[in-house]
Amino acid sequence: MYFYNLDTGTLHIEGYCGQSNPHPNHIKHFETEQEAYAFAGRQKIHMCVDCQKKRDEKLKKV
Ligand SMILES: [Zn+2]
Repeated sequence: MYFYNLDTGTLHIEGYCGQSNPHPNHIKHFETEQEAYAFAGRQKIHMCVDCQKKRDEKLKKV
């Protein structure tokens, strides 16, 4: 599950970083990264650095 912070334009992965519980009215949930990009446009979304790092670590371990 991904969530997009409308204020900062940052895409997070749920549970991956400390920003997992921002104000609910400032975020939007997506099942996939692609859905988020389809909603806001690829140019406007920045993947959270912390979340991206953790995802990369997980991918390496598998
Ligand atoms: Zn994050």
